[in-house]
Amino acid sequence: MSVVYNFCAGPAMLPTPVMAKAQQEFINWQNTGCSVMELSHRSKEFMALTAKAEERLRQLMHIPDNYKVLFCHGGGRGQFSAVPLNLLPQGQHADYVVTGSWSEAAAKEAANFGKINVINAIDESEGIKSVKPFNEWQVSSDAAYVHYCPNETVDGIEIFDIPEFDGVPIVADMSSTILSHHIDVTKFGLIYAGAQKNIGPSGLTIVIVREDLLGKARVDTPCIMNYKTAADNDSMYNTPPTYAWYLAGLVFEWLESIGGVSAVEKVNADKAALIYQYVDNSSFYLNNIDSQFRSRMNVPFWLADESLNDAFLEQAEAEGLVALKGHRIVGGMRASIYNAMPFEGVQKLVAFMKKFEEGNR
Ligand SMILES: *Cc1c(COP(=O)(O)O)cnc(C)c1O
Repeated sequence: MSVVYNFCAGPAMLPTPVMAKAQQEFINWQNTGCSVMELSHRSKEFMALTAKAEERLRQLMHIPDNYKVLFCHGGGRGQFSAVPLNLLPQGQHADYVVTGSWSEAAAKEAANFGKINVINAIDESEGIKSVKPFNEWQVSSDAAYVHYCPNETVDGIEIFDIPEFDGVPIVADMSSTILSHHIDVTKFGLIYAGAQKNIGPSGLTIVIVREDLLGKARVDTPCIMNYKTAADNDSMYNTPPTYAWYLAGLVFEWLESIGGVSAVEKVNADKAALIYQYVDNSSFYLNNIDSQFRSRMNVPFWLADESLNDAFLEQAEAEGLVALKGHRIVGGMRASIYNAMPFEGVQKLVAFMKKFEEGNR
């Protein structure tokens, strides 16, 4: 089989060394004679695995001791419900900043549980899509929290700076950007991320929450969504997604082995720059997002002549470049280039884009 580069937005490709290791120990994990997925989550072997995975994540992200790391079910959307259930007491309100389709979906779900103020932070003047500066996000000082999405996976918009609003806890949906570059965890009240973009397979969701925000859940919060219950039970109140947790641990180990977040951050910047530079120097391809806010994880681009879309996708696939079709609500193409995408994959994509342009000018 020739090499395939998978640009899927999620579930996304995993690092090859991780897959090889998982395959090698699939049937007999650490000489237990069992697959890791067959073991009790409370066995000492598995508990050692979870402790090590958490330790690695804490080191990679410099997570301080006053934050809990929870390994949950339910994906990003599960957190769209869990966040207001845990952090929005009845009678109060939360502010939701909307910069694209995921933050919009989060706001919509939260509105089922309480009063939500929606702040539209997209500025779309003169055909360029941009994000309004933080001082124009009208966050109220008495909001229970403010929620935003630092990387809009569908729209290809990424906010690299971290906003600060006097005393209002910041909640961030980092599903598609966690571990892609260094962030200061202390600026957040809560960070969550579905695993299937930058961490591992689907089924696992990471929640990093400051301890003082625990214990405020509404009484009708389902127990498996209650952060305090999860924290008090080491994320094992019910059976956790053990195999996904194991794979996440391998991904953390891999990330450590290649030099950690700062090393992968450089590669990610180079990968994204390669595509954007090519798109900007060509009139055949377009991207209308303000260069300051262009996502390094999800790069959308459009063919000036959209009638060539099908041919582009077909020929790309024939060259082993798969899953480049843009999200249905924005159309065009999207290259998702998470941590696991090697630089060579992006080089090959850009070489293909050039060849396709030359053949269709
Ligand atoms: C993929 C994604 C989600 C949804 O995740 P699910 O695990 O499918 O619920 C939410 N937010 C962002 C930013 C995403 O990229």
